[in-house]
Amino acid sequence: MTNTTTPLRIAVARGDGIGPEIMDATLQILEAAGANLDVEHVRLGKDVYESGVASGIDPSAWDVLRDRGVLLKAPITTPRGGGYKSLNVTLRKSLGLFANVRPAVSYHPFVATRHPDMNVLVVRENEEDLYAGIEHRQTDEVVQCLKLITRPGSEKIIRYAFEEARAQGRSKVTALVKDNIMKMTDGLFARVFEEVAEAYPDIEHEQMIVDIGAARLADTPEAFDLVVMPNLYGDILSDVTAQLTGSVGLAPSSNVGETVALFEAIHGSAPDIAGRGIANPSGLLLASVMMLQHLGAGDAAERVHNAWLTTIEDGVHTGDVYREGVSKEQVNTMGFTEAIIERLGEEPRHLAPARYANRPVAQVPRATPRPPQVKTLLGVDVFADWREHDRNPDRLAEALQAQAAPLELQVITNRGVKVWPEGLPETFTTDHWRCRFMASDAGTVSNRAVVDLLGRLVDAGIDVIKTENLYAFDGEQGFSQAQGQ
Ligand code: NAD
Repeated sequence: MTNTTTPLRIAVARGDGIGPEIMDATLQILEAAGANLDVEHVRLGKDVYESGVASGIDPSAWDVLRDRGVLLKAPITTPRGGGYKSLNVTLRKSLGLFANVRPAVSYHPFVATRHPDMNVLVVRENEEDLYAGIEHRQTDEVVQCLKLITRPGSEKIIRYAFEEARAQGRSKVTALVKDNIMKMTDGLFARVFEEVAEAYPDIEHEQMIVDIGAARLADTPEAFDLVVMPNLYGDILSDVTAQLTGSVGLAPSSNVGETVALFEAIHGSAPDIAGRGIANPSGLLLASVMMLQHLGAGDAAERVHNAWLTTIEDGVHTGDVYREGVSKEQVNTMGFTEAIIERLGEEPRHLAPARYANRPVAQVPRATPRPPQVKTLLGVDVFADWREHDRNPDRLAEALQAQAAPLELQVITNRGVKVWPEGLPETFTTDHWRCRFMASDAGTVSNRAVVDLLGRLVDAGIDVIKTENLYAFDGEQGFSQAQGQ
């Protein structure tokens, strides 16, 4: 067995529940495969939560993660009850792990699936979108959640998707967005996708609206190669694709940032079977294969992956995968580990063998700096909490118009639908009104004019709950039109 020459310096978290069992199995296989690991253990999870650290991360772990740059993490148990923060969210946000990467692969006929030819790489943006966690209750009836999509965030994830496609020899990248409705946010993601794609002429690219794209992905996953998505769609569809392979318990994932990367199985700590020695270590083992590739140890990654594929193909299965008529032998965690180690050096005969030895490592991109655009203020959307006069928008308009000059009230919407001027009596209204004021000569507005307007509105008894300035950037309008406007 040849050891890789330079030690691979990694941090390891053994996790909770079945975590220690599957981590021991994984490290044993990696060692037998000749991966020259230099391991430092960090404490994450249940014990740390219960010792009073709300994040579940031992404070000393941060320095180790920063120093090692790579974490192989077993699943952890989030204790029930309030006050505990999601460890995965904390790790992701604190370490800037912007890319969540999940291969969704079928192992037909050895693992039951309705989609035998599926091999899709799902790349999900991990930090932005509706997950920024900025939510407010604004009126008696209305709450909001801010959807933040940034240009640098979109560029990094999309570039990373193309870099992965190129490194893995994948031929097509599909972006799923809803830019027909969210023209500004998803529209930016879609625009950046087209810009980035130009730098990868060797890779086919396409965009689909997420609803039809999701339907096609669920129906014909073999038509997709690599799919890249903003956070929410990616969260949902990466679970859908894992389920379609028929082997959620086998699926690995990586969370990649500019300086740190985290590798784990997608399943949890399975407390129901913990300590019984029957857990399937495959998800974590395949995550370790992704880690070896990331570290440039393609030889070891290939050896481990092919031994695992051969074991699956030979019908040596743990209880969760075992199926009468397909499987040959049911084994426990230790038996499965030994079966893989025995097959190191072999290649599968039916399933496609893994080829990593000469595969380049996907570069983790940084966003391209851009000169700032010229920003001009054209008006303001004033949001008001208003429920008087049977919520008749004409009466609200009257009250606003009396205070508007030198600006001009242009439109009032409720839940985005125009209700003034010329609203429809059928439109359902809540107590949350968006009132748009623009310069009366269609020119620019000063910040002082906006502040003065707010002062007049408040003095006139209007309950202003928030404002959004309306800008143009290099002359291009930076806000949506009201529906029906
Ligand atoms: P789970 O994935 O742990 O278990 C779901 C079912 O799948 C269980 O019946 C379990 O026995 C089985 N299972 C899961 N992994 C298996 C494996 N490797 N081999 C054989 N069977 C396996 O999901 P859950 O029960 O909803 O969550 C349990 C705990 O895990 C919770 O505390 C949850 O918060 C945590 N969790 C952690 C992570 C993580 O650390 N990344 C992810 C998901 C859930």
